[in-house]
Amino acid sequence: MAIRLHPATIPFATGMKQLIMTMALTTLAATAVHAQTSNTNRDVNTLLALLSLEEKIGQMVQLDLSVVTVPNSSPIKLDEKKLREALVTYKIGSFINNGLGHALSLDEWRYVNKTIQDMIRDETPHKIPLLYGIDSIHGATFVLNSTLFPQNLAMAATRNPELMRHAAEISAAETRAAGLRWTFAPVLDVGRQALWARFPETFGEDPYLASVLGMAAVHGFQGDNVGSPTSVAACMKHYLGYSFPLTGKDRSPAMMSDSYLREYFLPPFREAVKAGVKTVMVNSGEINGVPVHASKYLLTDVLRGELGFKGVVVSDWEDIIRLHTWHKVAETPAEAVRMALDAGLDMSMVPLDYSFFTLLKQLVAEGKVSGQRIDESVRRILQLKSELGLFKNPYVEPETAGKFGKPEYRQTALAAAAEAITLLKNEGATLPLTKSATVLVTGPAARSVSALHGCWSYTWQGRDEKWYPKTTLTIADAVREKIGADKVLYHSGVDFDGKNVDVDAAITEAAKSDAIVLCLGEDAYAETPGDINDFNLPAGQQEFAKRIYATGKPVVMVLVEGRGRVIREIEPGARGIVMAYWSGSEGARAIASVLFGDTNPSGKLPFTYARYANHLVTYDRKFTGRLDEDAPPDGHQAMEYDPQWEFGHGLSYTTFDYQNLKVSAPVLKGNGRVTVGVEVTNSGRREGAEVVELYTRDLFASLTPPLKRLRAFQKINLPPGKTTTVSFELSAADLAFVNGASKLVTEPGDFEVMIGKLKSTLHYEE
Ligand code: BGC
Repeated sequence: MAIRLHPATIPFATGMKQLIMTMALTTLAATAVHAQTSNTNRDVNTLLALLSLEEKIGQMVQLDLSVVTVPNSSPIKLDEKKLREALVTYKIGSFINNGLGHALSLDEWRYVNKTIQDMIRDETPHKIPLLYGIDSIHGATFVLNSTLFPQNLAMAATRNPELMRHAAEISAAETRAAGLRWTFAPVLDVGRQALWARFPETFGEDPYLASVLGMAAVHGFQGDNVGSPTSVAACMKHYLGYSFPLTGKDRSPAMMSDSYLREYFLPPFREAVKAGVKTVMVNSGEINGVPVHASKYLLTDVLRGELGFKGVVVSDWEDIIRLHTWHKVAETPAEAVRMALDAGLDMSMVPLDYSFFTLLKQLVAEGKVSGQRIDESVRRILQLKSELGLFKNPYVEPETAGKFGKPEYRQTALAAAAEAITLLKNEGATLPLTKSATVLVTGPAARSVSALHGCWSYTWQGRDEKWYPKTTLTIADAVREKIGADKVLYHSGVDFDGKNVDVDAAITEAAKSDAIVLCLGEDAYAETPGDINDFNLPAGQQEFAKRIYATGKPVVMVLVEGRGRVIREIEPGARGIVMAYWSGSEGARAIASVLFGDTNPSGKLPFTYARYANHLVTYDRKFTGRLDEDAPPDGHQAMEYDPQWEFGHGLSYTTFDYQNLKVSAPVLKGNGRVTVGVEVTNSGRREGAEVVELYTRDLFASLTPPLKRLRAFQKINLPPGKTTTVSFELSAADLAFVNGASKLVTEPGDFEVMIGKLKSTLHYEE
């Protein structure tokens, strides 16, 4: 687990803050002039040839800013002596985080940037600007008042790559406005272990969906030119296989075949490399007993050899040290550094000391690491700095002014949350609720800002609400805004652990209301602190739901959660159920808009919502799993494929009918293509968006085939009564799988093509 600084209660030194702000602003103009004159875009090889070994090693080190900050300073203050030690003595090339564990204002970031780059300019021989990396995971996490978008899981529910690209563009602009040019995003781990605490950071369980959304995010972050003042370098992570721990606990071992690793976890990384992603962060865990930070096979043979990745490989937090301390594959800390270098690491997120610097220097002196090997990594790092325009101007660029906190950014966050929200159940058309009703908004998520945002929201864990903008609405606030405060009653009832807060008061208020909005789920968590021992929604929350149902009032459940916690026992009592995920700055408004019918929901589950904690399956299960819904063996209920809700499930306030699935030819040959068309009709009474998903099934294959695989999808918008034809092109690549020899192949034979409940056949010949 990463050790983080927890946001301390810091006295607010306004006077000092203003002084620093003024300094930052008055020096900005001078900075720009200086930048143009003294730093030009240098030729990387020429520069490399001038550097000493120490300067080179310094470029490979990433240090946490806490090492050089004055503890608990507010506004943030850098300790000049410690900073000099980092930049001048150790020649450090990259920083991470912000030292205080919570978001900083734009002005604080500008001060940090300027202080660092000035010292490099004035006191180091080759004036190589520092590259700052930060976790802008769903917005500029560590910049106060930034726009926070829905988490990746929710973005996957939108099935809207264009929206993902746009959200990433905004995150990039707001990150760069703070002088930060490298984000540790997107997370491309495929969420195939439903218990995992980082599940909400994934695009769900399907590799194709994750690939499409992941590529969109890379394009959004990097733009056409990563050097432009609105772009940042993206970092695909955590390569590879991080999201499949056997126990479900973060950073615990994974065991899987190479074919499975390539089939389900490699595709989003492969596509991100094609999209030109600049950097990659490595999986902290181990696969089949090999820590990925020590895997030459994965970091060099596959990543560079097969995928053709040319960018920078950065370790995750302390993970080189942990080859010795946790994984026990390196007998000494020095051996850990040697192994990581040999495997293919370029930069070490050490990040709390100078051990990597010292050990690597020693390894070179002992002849255990070659100068040429160091040059390879440093060249890549300098190349990245050059592409990011750091040699031209390492300071906050004037063009970033006005590219922060724009109202239209909020609108995009609202659109994203509204498209993500997934209507899971709507018995008797209970939803939308009428705006004239008196409503009790209750449950632990009703008044929680942190649960609406989840991890990496102004702090690492996202829990500390004091860093959120004061204007952020809770669900209760947004319902008030929507139907009038006088019609909205509020009591949380229980907290997220299920402990009684004011259950009796909530029950009394329930009796006075026409409908109840019951907001259950999970509060924010990130990484290892989010590990759980029981996948069921905490018992106290479920007991509370049952007491609310007993009032006899119509109940709509809103699930605010990062993973699909099991709610089997309380599902029947709710007439409507809305999955809101962790949906960001505008999540509350989006939820209210869906509840009262101003938005017609169109989100689709990006994962299989489990009915039983001991029955975790993905939609692309195998025949041999005895999980076929068509023919469960008599009396073997435990063998049925019976999730609470399926991958792709999501209702609308209108209905869509599918007819006439047609494949243009019965046989697909070699490099040919076939077109698959289907007619979709909006058969209800209001306009709505629908996601048309195409699946294929390989009837027989050399490795046991899954029942189906998602191969393509399109999102369409249809007015009531209208029909449209949606078509897809399929080639052999869309029918491929990774065989037992780890090769991506399409085997000749029969396939089924499925859209909705319609099916057709297709034969493939080489
Ligand atoms: C996480 C990474 C993150 C890094 C830097 C690690 O603990 O696993 O996802 O980018 O910290 O904050």
